[in-house]
Amino acid sequence: MAEFNALELVNPGVKQLRPYQAGKPTSELQRELGLQHVVKLASNENPLGLSDKVKTALEAELTDLVRYPDANGYYLKSRLAELHEVGTQQITLGNGSNDVLEILARTFVSDKDEVIFSQHAFVVYPLVTQAIGAKPVAVPAVDYGHDLDGMAKAVTDKTKMIFIANPNNPTGTFLSTSALKSFLDKIPQHIIVVLDEAYYEYVPEDERAPSVEWIIEYPNLVVSRTFSKAYGLAGLRAGYVVSDEGVADVLNRIRQPFNMNSLSLKAAEVVLDDHAYLQKAVELNAQGMKQLTDFCEDSGLNYIPSYGNFLTIEVGPDAEKLYDELLHEGVIVRPVGGYELPNHLRVSIGLPEENQAFIKAMKKLRG
Ligand SMILES: *Cc1c(COP(=O)(O)O)cnc(C)c1O
Repeated sequence: MAEFNALELVNPGVKQLRPYQAGKPTSELQRELGLQHVVKLASNENPLGLSDKVKTALEAELTDLVRYPDANGYYLKSRLAELHEVGTQQITLGNGSNDVLEILARTFVSDKDEVIFSQHAFVVYPLVTQAIGAKPVAVPAVDYGHDLDGMAKAVTDKTKMIFIANPNNPTGTFLSTSALKSFLDKIPQHIIVVLDEAYYEYVPEDERAPSVEWIIEYPNLVVSRTFSKAYGLAGLRAGYVVSDEGVADVLNRIRQPFNMNSLSLKAAEVVLDDHAYLQKAVELNAQGMKQLTDFCEDSGLNYIPSYGNFLTIEVGPDAEKLYDELLHEGVIVRPVGGYELPNHLRVSIGLPEENQAFIKAMKKLRG
């Protein structure tokens, strides 16, 4: 009898998939290298720590954990609807925004369709595309960012979905309001355009696109946001999309009823009102960004100017080796060879002393 091999049984798209490479957890590095002090600048997490208001609210929520969560997320949706000036029926909640990105692909894309995204764009877009067996179309980047003209030209009669990350991870590149608007004008409305704004809160207010307002004019536009970055809830998993009501209706049919748990629903609801936390996070990020870009300039290192909470630095062809040496210095950053950036490392912005630990290690290793 032939040996059992699960890989032979899966759909052809899944066969090509490689597991998502997450940032190395601090505890793992401590265990492996016996290091006491480890600085993790690898997953674009919020260095401020959890909001105190969230901590208090979570404690109060513990007694209710014996119950199922509110499947409709009534309070969080109401709060989000108010914030975005849309109806609650236009919001779809997710176990992190990744969850909703996957739901979107599964809802609209079949294995005969094509999905467009940019080279160097967030890895989840090719991942969800391939899992369905659809054809991923990666359009070459220009100056590390999305080439929107190239992406519009890549549209065929098989195109079903387009992903745009703005700002993009791992490059930090940013598209202007006018560039996005003229792109939307070119895209036929039977193609779903997903605008992933995971780093929206870090973008200066006067440069942010009125993306949610555009949904009226472009009902094929879906805007994605997360609580994982500036709101500091990465471990809880909370994200959502705002869309046309019809789009939200179909997403909600596929969505698992309890995809957001009671704690993440509560935390997200509470942190939305913690304006001081958000402001502090954004200010700290701006300071840390300057600390890292100043270091790069003093050291003659090229970097990709970033609108996110991370900086992607060109360190040369031995980037993987440097990543490893930094680990031994107790600093975890992120290699981005998997994003076709083999000469770069992505460094998340930390607290001033954490950024300094990275700078010190770089000076020691690179002289
Ligand atoms: C971090 C990130 C997200 C957020 O993912 P969650 O599932 O909400 O934690 C989404 N898109 C991009 C481009 C990101 O970098």
